[in-house]
Amino acid sequence: MRFETKAVHAGRRVDPSTGAVTTPLHLSTTYERDADGSYPNEFIYSRGDNPNRRALEECLTSLEDGYDCVTYASGMAAITSLIESLPADKPRRIIMPDDMYFGIRSLLSETDIKSRFDIAVVDMTDLEEVKRVIDSAPAGLVWMETPSNPLVKVTDIEAIVKLAQRAGAYTAVDNTWATPVLQRPFTFGADFSLHSVTKYLGGHSDLMIGAVVAKSDNPMLTNLRAWQQSKGAVPSPFDCWLALRGVQSLAPRMMVHCSNAEQIADFLKQHSKVEAVHYPGLADHTGHHIAAKQMSSFGGMLSFQVKGGQAEAMAVAAKVQIFVRATSLGGTHSLIEHRASVEKNKTMAPPNLLRLSIGIENVDDLKEDLLQALE
Ligand SMILES: *Cc1c(COP(=O)(O)O)cnc(C)c1O
Repeated sequence: MRFETKAVHAGRRVDPSTGAVTTPLHLSTTYERDADGSYPNEFIYSRGDNPNRRALEECLTSLEDGYDCVTYASGMAAITSLIESLPADKPRRIIMPDDMYFGIRSLLSETDIKSRFDIAVVDMTDLEEVKRVIDSAPAGLVWMETPSNPLVKVTDIEAIVKLAQRAGAYTAVDNTWATPVLQRPFTFGADFSLHSVTKYLGGHSDLMIGAVVAKSDNPMLTNLRAWQQSKGAVPSPFDCWLALRGVQSLAPRMMVHCSNAEQIADFLKQHSKVEAVHYPGLADHTGHHIAAKQMSSFGGMLSFQVKGGQAEAMAVAAKVQIFVRATSLGGTHSLIEHRASVEKNKTMAPPNLLRLSIGIENVDDLKEDLLQALE
């Protein structure tokens, strides 16, 4: 099956007890044993496994062409689990990108992870620098986020994977922004693809799930599954059900997100009050050629800098009528956010930067909304 077909069919089967075409929502936490003590339907207790979670994991495995998928209560739970699942024989050193999702920045600076792991932060777009950092001391895991948040930087997955593999480190790509519709980390050799399913895969801003998809069976995957089941970082059956519903329309949604974002990037670039537009689809974006090589289209996320400072940027955000002023991304509706004031002193975002998550509304309505806000 091809991607769009798998998005609709993988992990789903007609319910044998009722003939229901849509996978039923199973809220039961426990499953009956036979008189002989066996479990005729495999399921025992919902934390260990349940039909909705299994269906979602099968579907995401299939969409990434992976070996297995482990889902969690949130993207951050998935990321924490990935870091903590580094096998004991691997160095405790983790190499992270300088432009990374803000929640990960907080995880690394505000929890005990910082005392138990040696975190090296590097500009992943500077291959010489990455090579120097990887060669300077053995690392267990190299983490990529591409395109990145909020500066929309593009990392060459294939090049970084080669450097990491030479050093014997695992590699993981946060594929939340690109989704498997646009980017397949495993085709470039990465070991893990991570998703905040909360975003594009769910697609409607109404659920919270994280997922790690593994390219192959390995000791880290065993630890990931143990984290989920034994430490209990599980998503709810209802969230899994919603995610499986959302994923069915992932491919067509992404096409509209991308086409709208491309048109809005062009429009903003020509506006006299805009200082800079960060979108990998623009020919003059520093990561354009790498994005063109490793992504099938350039995504629905962009950021731009308003001429002036924080006040001028906030004034634009204050005037939008269709865009909603809110954090997060990947939903059907367009969002606008002033990142620096959310991230405060830990921010990488310039004070005049606004981040846009472009939805699937009519693009002319979105352009007109930005036009009136800018003017
Ligand atoms: C939102 C997000 C996360 C964290 O996911 P949650 O579901 O909010 O915990 C991680 N990485 C990226 C790129 C994100 O956008």
